[in-house]
Amino acid sequence: MSKLLIVGTVAFDAIETPFGKTDKILGGAATFIGLAASQFNVDSAIVSVVGDDFPQEYLDLLTSKNIDISSLEIIEGGSTFFWSGKYHNDLNTRDTLATELNVLADFNPVVPDNFKDADVVMLGNLHPNTQMSVIQQMEQKPKLIILDTMNFWMDNTLTELMEVIKHIDVITINDEEARQLTGEYSLVKAAIRIHEMGPKYVVIKKGEHGALLFHDDNIFFAPALPLREVFDPTGAGDTFAGGFAGYLAATKNVTYENMKNAVIHGSNLASFSVEKFGTQRMKALERGEVNKRLHQFKTLTQFDIELS
Ligand code: AMP
Repeated sequence: MSKLLIVGTVAFDAIETPFGKTDKILGGAATFIGLAASQFNVDSAIVSVVGDDFPQEYLDLLTSKNIDISSLEIIEGGSTFFWSGKYHNDLNTRDTLATELNVLADFNPVVPDNFKDADVVMLGNLHPNTQMSVIQQMEQKPKLIILDTMNFWMDNTLTELMEVIKHIDVITINDEEARQLTGEYSLVKAAIRIHEMGPKYVVIKKGEHGALLFHDDNIFFAPALPLREVFDPTGAGDTFAGGFAGYLAATKNVTYENMKNAVIHGSNLASFSVEKFGTQRMKALERGEVNKRLHQFKTLTQFDIELS
């Protein structure tokens, strides 16, 4: 079975949307990535850190999804990374109310020996130095290194971020972040700039408007499934990335053609994630409903036009 190494935050989130408000619930980039990737036939492990305030119940959830958490460090007396956000009425934009790094501030990741030859490395949202350190610990060159990041790291650690970006194959970021990173408003121009920074593949996520995959002069577009109700978009991007990485690892095929399918799988899983607060929907997700929705995705864009 292919190995997928996941790095990213494991967190407490407090979220406010037009539909309600939560206290501290389970969140974090690596959490959403791991839950999404667990839909595929892969051996996955999370490298991250939490404080001893992190409930056993959450650790058990990750283990129950066959995610190896032996390298999820628990710091005695430490507090878990905390993020709080408030969504605007359109749910496409949000304000970050708090980002408390806590135990993440001094985190030195240790890749477990049995994952130093992972096939796919998914560098979820985290300090770019941590992402870089994970790349450096790999003993065998992974088939694919994917990186996700966000405006927080562009604002605070841009130099380090630019360095790690040189060493990766695929970047997944949202439209506003692509614009911030490159200074280009056009996403096509932004993707060209990002190619110049290193990554051969650029995925730009556009929330409810789908995702774009760029490679050389090729562009592929996957819509997001129009949903009756979106409850909480938190983690949609990470769920997308987890589905994308999990599918590529499971199929052992990292070509551009297969990445198109990976984008669809990522979008499909993200469409579930937003239906409930936090990780609730992903926690209970079953293969049958995932497959059913994949069919919906297919019919959404399939057409038979006659070309002369
Ligand atoms: P997304 O909605 O896909 O952008 O991801 C939201 C998740 O990312 C939440 O569960 C947060 O805990 C986590 N998160 C928020 N800010 C950061 C940050 N600066 N670094 C890493 N993870 C973060």
